[in-house]
Amino acid sequence: MWNAIRSVIACCFLLFVGVGSALPASAEDLGDVIDREAKAIEGQMIEWRRDIHQHPELGNREVRTSALVAEHLKKLGYEVREKVAKTGVVGILNGGKPGPVVALRADMDALPVTEEVDLPFASKVKAMWNGNETGVMHACGHDAHVAILMAAAEVIAKQRSELPGTVKLLFQPAEEGLPIGEEGGAQLMLKEGAFDSPTPEAVFGLHVSSRLPTGVVSFRAGAVMAGSNTFRITVKGRQTHGAEPWRGVDPIVIGAQIVLALQTIQSRQVDVTSEPSVLTIGVFNAGNRQNIIPDKAEMQGTLRTFDEGVRHFIMRRVTETAEAVAKSGGAEAEVEWRATGYIPVVNNIALTQRMAPTLKRVADKLIEAPRVTGSEDFSFFARQVPGLFFFVGVTAPDTPPFKAAPNHSPRFRIDEAGLIVGLRAILHVTFDYLSRAGH
Ligand SMILES: [Zn+2]
Ligand SMILES: [Zn+2]
Repeated sequence: MWNAIRSVIACCFLLFVGVGSALPASAEDLGDVIDREAKAIEGQMIEWRRDIHQHPELGNREVRTSALVAEHLKKLGYEVREKVAKTGVVGILNGGKPGPVVALRADMDALPVTEEVDLPFASKVKAMWNGNETGVMHACGHDAHVAILMAAAEVIAKQRSELPGTVKLLFQPAEEGLPIGEEGGAQLMLKEGAFDSPTPEAVFGLHVSSRLPTGVVSFRAGAVMAGSNTFRITVKGRQTHGAEPWRGVDPIVIGAQIVLALQTIQSRQVDVTSEPSVLTIGVFNAGNRQNIIPDKAEMQGTLRTFDEGVRHFIMRRVTETAEAVAKSGGAEAEVEWRATGYIPVVNNIALTQRMAPTLKRVADKLIEAPRVTGSEDFSFFARQVPGLFFFVGVTAPDTPPFKAAPNHSPRFRIDEAGLIVGLRAILHVTFDYLSRAGH
């Protein structure tokens, strides 16, 4: 009996020693050091964010932003690759201790949105987007992402001797989609070797969110953001006088029938208990005078899905439905799917479970994210290696998140007190991942 108890005590002791050696006191201290360093760089990070906010650049045009990033990384001793996927920057830092490679990603592009926020550093920038002049604004918070990763780069470089492995930073252009006819974004970065020599074992990214109060972090295992596919439908009818529709084929009435018919695919043909999906027609162009029935109508839309099977099914039914409805009215419909869709962001389940305690430690409050029908091309990085993409609250505590202007709004406004939460989260995730790898 006593022997048994003694051996239990011995085991506990060994276990204790074992845990102690896997996570030595210095590893705990490192967490405190990271927090101190994060606090020390907070002011500089906010300055970077304001500077980038005031000088936003559209996708594949992030020349100033990427120069700022590259210069910063070079000063810190990173091996820097520039012009990856046009304006992308890859920075590599080998730590003083052996360990795996982890990739951290920030997107750099702004949106063709004219800023309506009253801030001293509000954007007044204008640029051409697909042939039209437009205001340019960091309306999705990518300015914050760049500033956070620049600050993380500096804290990591300062702890280089303690870093057990290699950190690869990915500053990515053109997340928000591409000017017509151009290639870019995460897919082009991968094509141009962003994940080669060295290949990361895991990839992490974050997005600031207006839907969460400052201090809150949210994440979800599995599919968290939708895949998106874009399409165009052209209905070819036959022109006639608006007073004599029987002499032609009206593409507007047929187009309107198609818009409604497409809404019945998800509601009537997909098992609603399995996977959600959204189909939206956002463009409907036809005609130029009230009493002329035109030759054709053109529609453009987007499909959001979380599952490959559902995506393929709905894409097929959109084409079949548009063609059949057009035929019923004596017209023809041509459906074109753009080749450049985004796949869903799928957080690796094991990786997500592994990093959840870290996020919990950093956030004031950690919650499970609902699925988001928005898309993100972080998905392509997370398809190559296990990935985790999480959300960081940037809505000031005095504003209810449902009243805050959402990402992409001209009134999108970041509470900068949320930035340090993102910085600490990405730093702790990185060091915890690298420290615990192999144990
Ligand atoms: Zn966006
Ligand atoms: Zn975004």
